[in-house]
Amino acid sequence: MAEELSLILRASRYQDASKIVTFFSREGGLRTGFARGATARDNRFGASLEPVTLCRIVGRGGGPRSLYRIHHASILDPYRRIHADYNRLSWAGLLVRFLLGVLPPDHPEPPLFSLASEALSLIEGERDPPAQTWLSFAREGLSLLGYRPASPVCARCHRIPSGERIHFRPSDGTVLCRGCLGGEGKAGLETSSDILEWLSGGGEGFGLSGGRVAEAMALVDRLIGEHVNGWIPVASVPFLPDERR
Ligand SMILES: [Zn+2]
Repeated sequence: MAEELSLILRASRYQDASKIVTFFSREGGLRTGFARGATARDNRFGASLEPVTLCRIVGRGGGPRSLYRIHHASILDPYRRIHADYNRLSWAGLLVRFLLGVLPPDHPEPPLFSLASEALSLIEGERDPPAQTWLSFAREGLSLLGYRPASPVCARCHRIPSGERIHFRPSDGTVLCRGCLGGEGKAGLETSSDILEWLSGGGEGFGLSGGRVAEAMALVDRLIGEHVNGWIPVASVPFLPDERR
């Protein structure tokens, strides 16, 4: 039986004493498994299968034909501080939502797995503000999935904008400088060229002050929204208290 390092993303009770668990396995990618006798609280098996837990899962099956059966699970990191703090849990939940949205079933993505578990450790430790952790995670995650936008160049005059307002169309990555915008501004969003530059992999990031974080978040939201059906933008999630300030 294979042993898989896994992040639990979602779990629901099934009948009286079992659970259906969706988890991100480093070795197997996104899996949904059946855990007999794993209802939480009263047993360690169940506790190890709570959402936002890093554990080692032993099971078998999976793939399009057969249900994965979880036989054993042991906790490696319960992320205690995340579970004890509603703010941390909300940010961790955003990361979980991202993974559930972008991962295809049964397809290993080890670099994304590492990125996600590192981001959860950062939220757990809170050395950085969670908003910054989220932005870095989303930037690297989009890049690993092949959704990194190109470094900004105006599609019309071919000028490289620097520190100025630009217009960006997330559906195809088109950038227009303000001078070239004309009447075509409807399909995209206005942002600043250095935020797009940062998202494309350049630059050293940007200050966390003021509206910059909100703007970077809006841009990241739009990009994720291009690839994840029903993505709810961070800006419209009212329970994330300590961002955008
Ligand atoms: Zn231009």
